[in-house]
Amino acid sequence: MVPQKIQIRTMDSGELGALGFIESRYNLPFSIRRIYYIYGGKENSERGHHAHKKLWQCMIVIKGSLTLVLDGDEGSFSYPLNNPREGIIIPPGYWREMHNITSDAVILVLASHDYDESDYIRDHNAFKSWLKEQALKPVPYLELSRYIDTYGSIVENSAIDAIRSGTYINGQNVQEFEQKFAAICGTRYAVGVGNGFAAIMLILEALGIGQGDEVIVCAAGFVATPLAVSRCKATPVFVDCNYNGNINPNAIERAIGQNSKAILLTHLYGNPADMDEINTIAEKYSIAVIEDACQAHGAKYKGRPCGSLGRAAAFSFYPTKNLGCFGDGGCVTTNDSKIASTVRKLANYGATKKYQHEIIGINSRLDEIQAAVLRAKLPYMHIWNERRNVLSNLYMERLSGIDCITLPTIEKNNIQSWHVFPIRVLEGKRDILREYLDQHGISTNIHYPCALHKQHCYSQEHGHEYFPEAETWAKEELSLPLDATHTDSEIMRICNAVRSFFGRRPI
Ligand SMILES: *Cc1c(COP(=O)(O)O)cnc(C)c1O
Repeated sequence: MVPQKIQIRTMDSGELGALGFIESRYNLPFSIRRIYYIYGGKENSERGHHAHKKLWQCMIVIKGSLTLVLDGDEGSFSYPLNNPREGIIIPPGYWREMHNITSDAVILVLASHDYDESDYIRDHNAFKSWLKEQALKPVPYLELSRYIDTYGSIVENSAIDAIRSGTYINGQNVQEFEQKFAAICGTRYAVGVGNGFAAIMLILEALGIGQGDEVIVCAAGFVATPLAVSRCKATPVFVDCNYNGNINPNAIERAIGQNSKAILLTHLYGNPADMDEINTIAEKYSIAVIEDACQAHGAKYKGRPCGSLGRAAAFSFYPTKNLGCFGDGGCVTTNDSKIASTVRKLANYGATKKYQHEIIGINSRLDEIQAAVLRAKLPYMHIWNERRNVLSNLYMERLSGIDCITLPTIEKNNIQSWHVFPIRVLEGKRDILREYLDQHGISTNIHYPCALHKQHCYSQEHGHEYFPEAETWAKEELSLPLDATHTDSEIMRICNAVRSFFGRRPI
């Protein structure tokens, strides 16, 4: 992040003078927590000589003049400041000095945080070594606060507006978000619900799936998928995955029986499943296709968005998802007006009108504050997904040709949302590599360490079943850090650490 000059919007009123104004949300990359001003120094004085680790500032010289000198990771910058219509945004991590301050100078500073002495670095050598440390800092698997540092004010302001509106359930924010999200998914309806799990469960219920019914699910993936089936009192029928972790269409047909009502597939890691094959089988047996799109926000299968590829789709806005809110949230997308209205009703105590409960529903709604957060983040989702794509290409280039690892597959016709960057490490080496990366300050994850039919809650009934691919995934999968906020150099460091583990030279 480099410092940035901004123009202060000004209204001129002739004899009345000028009125300059700043709106945090539109003009600044941070929201203002503190304002201070400096005046009354000696002619030609100097100040500053410190840096901040986290604090953002915007400096405006209201009267008089000075020269602001900034020095940081991305270079040195010098600005003459003598015009109340201009401000300088100072990102964290810059050493700042103010020279040639005139005695009439009045300096206004807008700051992103409350006063905190531990945020200051007051010694120049200490600052230099702090900068060096930053470049060698551990690489987190995911650090959500990085988004706040960059986009915080936009999202925070949207949430503040929701708080101030006085409406917290079933208001404007949910409505507008639903419309926008449906448009992105290419569906007629999007219905906000409490979380991704509830989204799956409510779709199943809306389709009338329950006791005695069977739903086909993949044995590789997250436990929420089969749990939603079980919670509807239906039976999950596990099938194996294929080489990329997604449900294997060939295995589906063999699992279909008289009681099969639906195929519930996950676009695992944000990689769209083989929808043409799956839909063909579903049509042949007249059963429903439901997408668990909780990892596939913005992903596309042959040009069509995930969320629009079956009868209905479930999304989660859990904070770590490609589109996440500041708590729990989810939604159902569909073109089927009956599913949409039933899900909405079920999620709202079975009522469309207050105190008229037509069916036995539950309480599972997306709330206004979460919807406000999602609305503010939605325009960035594609930018963030594109950034994930760029970083995954970096991985693909730099990790290719290592015998012991298999890189994720890329389908030319599809756009992946890259929720996770999953590599497979030859059995037995995965955990040693993970430990090695950890010792080098690189955090990784495993998605998921246990195939679903082997999970304790299912092992009694399904533990004896055998799904070799899914069980191998559980033993070999390793998720490398991949988030829009990771830097190129972080990803390159990870690649070199993996390469060195396998005795390859760094690149
Ligand atoms: C996150 C996730 C869910 C559950 O979403 P919640 O909002 O946490 O309930 C379901 N399925 C998949 C594939 C997920 O990744």
